[in-house]
Amino acid sequence: MAKTGNKNIQAKLVLLGDMGTGKTSLVLRFVKGQFYEYQESTIGAAFFTQVLSLNEATIKFDIWDTAGQERYHSLAPMYYRGAAAAVVVYDITSMDSFERAKKWVRELQRQGNPNLVTVLVANKADLESKREVQNEIGEQYAKDNRLLFFETSAKSAQNVNELFYEIAKRLAKAA
Ligand code: GDP
Ligand code: MG
Repeated sequence: MAKTGNKNIQAKLVLLGDMGTGKTSLVLRFVKGQFYEYQESTIGAAFFTQVLSLNEATIKFDIWDTAGQERYHSLAPMYYRGAAAAVVVYDITSMDSFERAKKWVRELQRQGNPNLVTVLVANKADLESKREVQNEIGEQYAKDNRLLFFETSAKSAQNVNELFYEIAKRLAKAA
């Protein structure tokens, strides 16, 4: 298939979710293919880019990670403004983080962009023995709110690329 005529898409992607759920780790796994056990939760760098090539399009992600602002449970509107995709992360070992994720989802819904590709991510799936949030609970909430849903582990890399590829596919289809 000829590459010419393929769509070039630039897409802003934002991460939301409680501090410590693994947002930065997911981004670093995706962008650098690495995991840092002692990740500083407020590590400075908050902006990353990554390109994914699909058959039908090339997607350049501008990824906005927080630099710890989520600890105040609110983010400046400019953080989401113009976003094409949002990834809301909770930690399967923390019911609190799941409850908080629902709040972030509602906040996104209030922003009122019906085309925003929104994904609910249940991270730290490698910590099965400490699980507090059953898979079905997250899955059902996602279904009820028309969100994509993935259980991931930034540590083991489970589903991390799959998650970003799925977003890329949705964006390519919509473009
Ligand atoms: P953020 O505050 O949401 O950006 O979370 P971080 O990415 O800073 O991660 C918080 C802590 O959880 C760090 O110690 C990470 O190493 C750890 N962590 C992140 N993702 C995973 C995961 O999938 N599995 C495990 N076991 N630990 C993780
Ligand atoms: Mg972080």
